[in-house]
Amino acid sequence: LRLKSPAQKGKMKLDKVYMALLHHPVYNKSGEVVASAITNHDLHDLARLCATYGLAGYFVVNPLPLQRKLAEKLIQHWITGPGAAYNPTRKEAFQLARVAADLEGVKGLIREESGRALKLVGTTARRLENQISFPALREKMDRDQDQSWLILFGTGWGLTREFLEKEVDYVLGPIMGAGDYNHLSVRSASAIILDRLFSCGA
Ligand code: SAM
Repeated sequence: LRLKSPAQKGKMKLDKVYMALLHHPVYNKSGEVVASAITNHDLHDLARLCATYGLAGYFVVNPLPLQRKLAEKLIQHWITGPGAAYNPTRKEAFQLARVAADLEGVKGLIREESGRALKLVGTTARRLENQISFPALREKMDRDQDQSWLILFGTGWGLTREFLEKEVDYVLGPIMGAGDYNHLSVRSASAIILDRLFSCGA
């Protein structure tokens, strides 16, 4: 994960970095904590993002068995089903995607697969106390060579405050644009975040 020069960065596989899309615990419109439904285009777009930046894997995490079954079916359609021949680049991206019931399972899998300690990074559009800046996180990732990283994205109305306070090692500061409005879709937010962290530049 040592990102020395843009050329090196471009070639590099970020084999210590994973991402996950969490459907629980997230808020709904009324501020209740819920498990949200799978969105088809989240599956596609985040898999392509993960493949583009060379991440080690992408987890779709949902505690509801029927939702997991749906996600598996969609993913398999593009890997082993009729979709594989129809769109090979989609197949390649979806090969990085895995479905899981909970974050504990994902953490266990990554630790087993990578053989390294794991740090979790939460993301949110909200300003909270003790958020880490993009440059500071990049520096930590670059310095800690024996560390795996899992970047977490929310669905619904975002990951709960309690989860971000208790379950992750770092919470990234929010992406801000021209004004106060910063409610991005998870597809846009994740693309901006990965580019800020791992871009090989233009
Ligand atoms: N239904 C929405 C959609 O269409 O994507 C889900 C919104 S969900 C709250 C968006 C997720 O993207 C957040 O949980 C967070 O992970 C990330 N996100 C959105 N806006 C962000 C911002 N300004 N800064 C950092 N992360 C952001």
